[in-house]
Amino acid sequence: SKPQDADSSIRLTDNDAALARLSAVQKGYLSDPFIRSLVPRAHLQPSRPPLINVGTFVRTVAIDDLVEQWLSISSETGTKCQIVSLGAGSDTRFWRIATGPLKDQLAAYVEIDFPEVTTKKAMAIKKSKDLTAIFGDSNQIKLAQGGVCLHAPNYHLLGADLRKSPSETLGSLISPESGSLLDPSLPTLLLCECVLVYMSLAESSAILQWFGTYFKESVLGCVVYEMFGLDDAFGRVMVNNLKSRNVTLPGAEHSPDASVLPKRFLDLGFTTSRALTLREIRRAYVDPKELERISGLEMLDEVEELELVLQHYAIISSLTVPNREDSRLWTR
Ligand code: SAM
Repeated sequence: SKPQDADSSIRLTDNDAALARLSAVQKGYLSDPFIRSLVPRAHLQPSRPPLINVGTFVRTVAIDDLVEQWLSISSETGTKCQIVSLGAGSDTRFWRIATGPLKDQLAAYVEIDFPEVTTKKAMAIKKSKDLTAIFGDSNQIKLAQGGVCLHAPNYHLLGADLRKSPSETLGSLISPESGSLLDPSLPTLLLCECVLVYMSLAESSAILQWFGTYFKESVLGCVVYEMFGLDDAFGRVMVNNLKSRNVTLPGAEHSPDASVLPKRFLDLGFTTSRALTLREIRRAYVDPKELERISGLEMLDEVEELELVLQHYAIISSLTVPNREDSRLWTR
């Protein structure tokens, strides 16, 4: 096979994420009617081991819950809100929200990824009746920049390398000349699901700061899902595994202690931040009935190994709250 440049190796991590989600859906852990439209030859894809399925389940349920809280609070306060997903890959969350009970809360959903990834996703969306149905009339869906970007009434898919200067990439993508896709006065949630680790801390900080400045008058939320604590035996296996596929993790936090993770976000100007590992989330936050249900789906012998893996992933939820009354968010 031809040697791959580092960026194409990073882009390939989206396949892992998509196949993990597909596997969890096909085994009954999660429900996602849209994933098959975004994964080529979905019916032929192999399923992942039970341990990976449980991890995918915990991660998805936890992020779904944070997003749902975000949308519900805006429904209570009577404002619409926006969601920006960085490194969205073949995520289906927009379609799950847009067909769910809180769909009217969404003013705009913006996804950003490398142009190669968004071009493929834009084509898959155009081709899929299931994905285009929610936009009603197909004339509402427009490709832009030679098929790299796609615009629909409240959904925008944009191609950019997030390591470049945010004022250049993000600034031009959402500027008035390109249609002011994001309203700086609306509460806005940034989703960074397994993406910031692939860039340097300086590069990802620049992005978070850019959003902090752009949304300085409104509530900015940020949900980051990431691996951390990579200096132990398990971490080294994971890092070497990725290295053999030409992927490095310049943005990974090495401390094994999740309680250090919020510091970075507080330093960047967020007013509150907290981190939970997937292990803590599984133990204390996932509905016990759901845990009971998924325990019947597949045989999982390695509970200790599961906990060790879940211990290496964290969800960090941070907020800037210019106005204290919104700080009810994410206290559960
Ligand atoms: N967020 C999705 C999920 O959780 O299913 C995909 C996660 S995948 C592990 C990482 C994604 O981040 C890939 O789609 C990759 O192309 C994207 N990504 C990584 N570095 C990026 C960069 N510098 N600019 C744009 N996208 C990037």
